[in-house]
Amino acid sequence: MNNIHRYWLILVIVVYGYGFELGKYGNFAFERVHKNVYVMHGPVTEPNKENEGFMNNPAIIEGKHGLIVVDPGGNYRVGKKVLAEIINVSQKPIMAIFNTHKHGDHWFANKAMVEAYPHAVIYADEHMIEEAKAGEAEKWYRILDRMTGNLEGTKAFAYPTKALKMGDRIEIDGEMFVVRHPKAAHTDTDLLIEHVNSGTLFLGDNVMVGRFGAFDASSSILGNKELLEEIMQEKEMAYYIPGHGISGERGRVVEPYLTYLRTITEEMKRAYVDEVEPYEVIDRVKSRLKVYENWDGIGHTLGRHLDKVYAEIEEQDDAS
Ligand SMILES: [Zn+2]
Repeated sequence: MNNIHRYWLILVIVVYGYGFELGKYGNFAFERVHKNVYVMHGPVTEPNKENEGFMNNPAIIEGKHGLIVVDPGGNYRVGKKVLAEIINVSQKPIMAIFNTHKHGDHWFANKAMVEAYPHAVIYADEHMIEEAKAGEAEKWYRILDRMTGNLEGTKAFAYPTKALKMGDRIEIDGEMFVVRHPKAAHTDTDLLIEHVNSGTLFLGDNVMVGRFGAFDASSSILGNKELLEEIMQEKEMAYYIPGHGISGERGRVVEPYLTYLRTITEEMKRAYVDEVEPYEVIDRVKSRLKVYENWDGIGHTLGRHLDKVYAEIEEQDDAS
């Protein structure tokens, strides 16, 4: 490429843009990751003013006549930007949307999608729809509003319209999906979505890469760990997409998060047997988790995760 060509290429990129821009986090666009599957890998941080509440992994499956979207993002405004990028990938209409769980950072952008495509069907786990309507949406609205200040236009919520349950198989535009619902893992509303045609598994927030989840009261760290043990034992699929962080093959995506959950569980089982409190052994646990020191939020989440898994172990022991 000579200088004149390079100049024009740069001009085209500047004028038409490459992805949407998000301050220090850079530009975001969809990339084709596997067959007819595209992902926009969001910034791996907690919601804040600078990321405008965008920090998940919206994805697209391109069918013959239309598009299927997974977790379009965390608010209406982000949804509009994600939508513009979807249109850059394909101008086919959005026929369906999947939401992986009740946390608003994944589904509040439904609003922008259905505004443009009112016929799009939104699928989620049956419990997700119930809980979102019963107060979880409002709770997440307040959390994200406080952290990002970017919720304008997000209400009235575009709730999922079709309930799915464990084991359901559905075909949309010739693309086959099988869903699974663990009783409690990242939350009690999770939906893992297998796209059969491409051999891709959408893990929702049951797996993150480069940051940690907040295990809320409805979650189960032990349940999350068991789910991932199962996934590691199954026949390997071609591609894995976490709720946050870079997608790829199973060993790179699922394994690190599982190892983290295994380590904290093992350590808290030992602490429980030794009758010591989590905070008394936190330094020992930290020394085993050195490979995660660059993951976002480990400093303030580890203590809470240890308390949570300790309580679960205690409860399990009381019940037996
Ligand atoms: Zn979540």
